[in-house]
Amino acid sequence: MSPESSPLLEARGLVREFDLPGGGLFGRRKILAAVSDVSFSIGRGEVLGLVGESGSGKTTIGRMVMRLLDPTRGQVVFDGSDLTALSGKSLRRQRRRFQMVFQDPYASLNPRMRVGDIVAEPLVIHGLAPAASERREKVVRIFERVGLSPHDLSRYPREFSGGGRQRIGIARAIACSPELLVADEPIASLDLSIGAQIINLFSSLVSTEGMSLLFISHDLSVVRYLSDRVVVLYRGQVVESGSTRDVLEGPVHPYTRLLVGLGSGTLAEIPEGAAEASLDLCPFLDRCPEALPACRESMPGRFEDSGGGRQVLCHLAGSARASWQPCAPSSSSQGSV
Ligand code: SF4
Repeated sequence: MSPESSPLLEARGLVREFDLPGGGLFGRRKILAAVSDVSFSIGRGEVLGLVGESGSGKTTIGRMVMRLLDPTRGQVVFDGSDLTALSGKSLRRQRRRFQMVFQDPYASLNPRMRVGDIVAEPLVIHGLAPAASERREKVVRIFERVGLSPHDLSRYPREFSGGGRQRIGIARAIACSPELLVADEPIASLDLSIGAQIINLFSSLVSTEGMSLLFISHDLSVVRYLSDRVVVLYRGQVVESGSTRDVLEGPVHPYTRLLVGLGSGTLAEIPEGAAEASLDLCPFLDRCPEALPACRESMPGRFEDSGGGRQVLCHLAGSARASWQPCAPSSSSQGSV
């Protein structure tokens, strides 16, 4: 799972704002900043874990990467091509190369279609395997790859368990041999043992097919097992990032330290903060047990370690650790990872 030097995907300064109700005709527009200036990259064959609690913006980021949602600002660059500048046919051509696995497999599968047709559909859309016999052969191979039986081809999604449905979702996602999979909480609705099987399937797809994976999860133990690098999100901002081992074994940001200290990785166990935080101050200020006087006066900068592989958005990194330096302006402003 070692990444090559040129990234397959780069998210550059992604921002997504939503209008909130209440801004009248002549009143000020009310805006929710769901994602603020988020940047990261994914190498070929690399797994990047995106972790954060519910409402941290991770699903919004996944949808922007997939171009299911337009960013308010920023770019998604895939293999050197700016996806945010593409539309119509040129976007459709690229779509074959990146696919998504959703949290709720049942809601994402057409209940009136046989599962063989569901998995064959992307092949038809993208003009791959045009002959029916060739298509069937390919679908059978994909079924076997994800642990389904060819006998399942003519069944309907309702006839499968949650784990079976997620395998169908994965089969559909890999049908066109994409280079990148975006998996959004793919085991959140499954029980433990079935979830473990699905995680092993992802791991095997990455190692044998060379796919890259953006794995979105609130479960630190799964992210630890699967990811090469990790990005920790809090209220739509990257608060810490780096190699999975460095971040989870030596967390620097107080939020990451709390997460790791919880052991089970159940993010929701951290006490809730205020619903809205000031955009000019640290997003974690109202929940931080280690806040400094400086935290109440200014937004922390982004710091990186001497190797440049880790970044932290926190005043502590600048004040207490000589080995951490402010990021260069270009990457600092974008939270580049
Ligand atoms: S910047 Fe201050 S308030 Fe924010 S996480 Fe760091 S120490 Fe805590």
